[in-house]
Amino acid sequence: MTIHAWKHVWIVEPGKAPLYGNFVIQEETILGSGDVDIPEGAVVHEGKGRWILPGFVNTHGHAAASLMRGAGDDMMLQDWLEQVMWPREKQMNEHHAAAGQDLALVEMLKTGTTTFLDMYHLGVRRLAEKTAEIGMKAVIGRGMISFGSDSANQAKLEETRSLIKDFHGYDNRLRVCVAPHAPYTCPPAFLQQASELAHTEGVLLHTHCAETTQEVRQHIKSYGLHPVDHLYQLGLFDNELLLAHAVHVQDSHLELMAAHRTAVAVNTVSNAKLGSGIPPYVKMKEKGVRTGLGTDSAASNNNLSMIEEMRFTAMLPKAYEQNPAATHAGSVWQDATVHGADILGFPGSGSLAPGSPADFLIADPQQSFSVPFSPEKAASHLVYSMQSDAVKSVWISGRELMRERELLTLDEEKVLYEADKSAAGLL
Ligand SMILES: [Zn+2]
Repeated sequence: MTIHAWKHVWIVEPGKAPLYGNFVIQEETILGSGDVDIPEGAVVHEGKGRWILPGFVNTHGHAAASLMRGAGDDMMLQDWLEQVMWPREKQMNEHHAAAGQDLALVEMLKTGTTTFLDMYHLGVRRLAEKTAEIGMKAVIGRGMISFGSDSANQAKLEETRSLIKDFHGYDNRLRVCVAPHAPYTCPPAFLQQASELAHTEGVLLHTHCAETTQEVRQHIKSYGLHPVDHLYQLGLFDNELLLAHAVHVQDSHLELMAAHRTAVAVNTVSNAKLGSGIPPYVKMKEKGVRTGLGTDSAASNNNLSMIEEMRFTAMLPKAYEQNPAATHAGSVWQDATVHGADILGFPGSGSLAPGSPADFLIADPQQSFSVPFSPEKAASHLVYSMQSDAVKSVWISGRELMRERELLTLDEEKVLYEADKSAAGLL
């Protein structure tokens, strides 16, 4: 039984006073921290005053789309989808998807993400296998757009069913969700079928919703209802439901979400870049909606850094409301860690409490962005000033995946080369 222990470290997590001392893990679980003894036989690491932090949890993304980073910047969402993304996605094959996925996995690990949610229409099984192999945690969904023949749409549900059978619960690291793309790309009958599948299998239901005013306007025109009201009426709120975006919603929608424990993946950077709006993050918190943070894909962000996502999520509401107290660093950090993990069905991940899964980062605060150095300022430094390269090492389920910025389960140089080569064929 392998035990690892770090001496002379600060254990810092949101909402708790920092602890100085030892940090001990046994196999895939955190044993204790601070004033805790190092068991005999442990592999002991010198911590040099570094910070042990909970891993980041990215609640919404499309890994394969990393290959489209920088394609069609500065366009409206609908134009960008129709003129840039969908034509390229039509050309994409499994090899392109794999190259984009690996690029995203490299970037997520190097920026301290330990757990992520992904929905995409291509290479989904491959992403599940790769994630299992390299040691990360994820919720994987087959993104389903319901156009075309009924048999083609049924095949998408069948693919989801088979993913659930093969990967849901694997090694306590993989989960599968049912992922209809959006209310505007899936007709009501299909959304209900997806909802029933999620209900029967007891898995998370995930969809984009109310991202732009244009989408909401069009939905009201087509169905006479706001997309949130429509999803509610179709019975989707009876599931464990995670909505991506929810930018253009009313108080009544947030109240409905809070009452049904419906969660929102807040994608502030992507919404800002696409000019979709500022998510009503402060209102969501006020109304008691469960919130996690997501980067969306590198095609609309254009990176997968959760530190940057936290910064924007904290900053934009302050600017919009002309109120610096509109958000608080510690609360945003919670959403980027423990709350996100809870929403994705990995309770305890994103926390450093004894008994929690050993998913954590080792960060070096000895750089200008975190000086004056103080572990009490960890939330402030992380959200308002630190850069992702402060993250030196990443451990997930007690396995080391990055050591001193070197990835141990992915060949970074090869991944970057393959992604660059593969993207060239798409443009
Ligand atoms: Zn998305």
